[in-house]
Amino acid sequence: MLNIVLFGPPGAGKGTQSERIMEKYDLVHISTGDLFRKHIGEGTALGKQAQDYIDSGNLVPDALVIRMVEVKIESQKDSEGFLFDGFPRTVAQAIALDEMLQGRQMSIAVMLALAVPDNELRDRLKLRGLTSGRSDDQNEEKINNRINVYKSETLPVADYYRHQSKFKEVNGVGSVEEIFNHICMVIDLVK
Ligand code: ADP
Repeated sequence: MLNIVLFGPPGAGKGTQSERIMEKYDLVHISTGDLFRKHIGEGTALGKQAQDYIDSGNLVPDALVIRMVEVKIESQKDSEGFLFDGFPRTVAQAIALDEMLQGRQMSIAVMLALAVPDNELRDRLKLRGLTSGRSDDQNEEKINNRINVYKSETLPVADYYRHQSKFKEVNGVGSVEEIFNHICMVIDLVK
């Protein structure tokens, strides 16, 4: 069992690297952003509750996120492990995740943090907004809000894992292959 938290600001490349990591290590990908977008697309009650938060670049309330993740974990009990992407994004979510995993005799092996400078993030998100169709990528104010929310609410999650000696930083600037190789070196040391 190998459980990994992939961490980093919006636009750091978590989605891109996730696909490679889950394939190589045979992990179930749990991206809370993707799950919410699916709920919104399907018009579920959860999607309706989450939509306004997402459109404005704010975080969806913890209770909704935590319940959605627990349902997903429960539905994939036979997996080799999970790759959490975009979750946990608050310390309350990190605590809830530890509890969920402990109750199932599992734990997080490592938090992989992709480090990318702010100006590069803004450029990437604006570029993604041209093609992704994501309303939260399309305007400067929403992008800035997401980066600010990341700094105030999500960065403390790094300290949470640092205290457990599970925090590992990887340079998120470079070619997709280079970054992936670096990530694999870190994973191979903990698995
Ligand atoms: P990004 O590419 O900006 O990192 P995501 O696809 O991970 O974005 O998430 C998009 C939006 O979904 C976030 O801005 C937030 O509103 C909501 N969201 C995703 N994951 C979480 C979470 N763990 N807690 C709260 N809100 C979340």
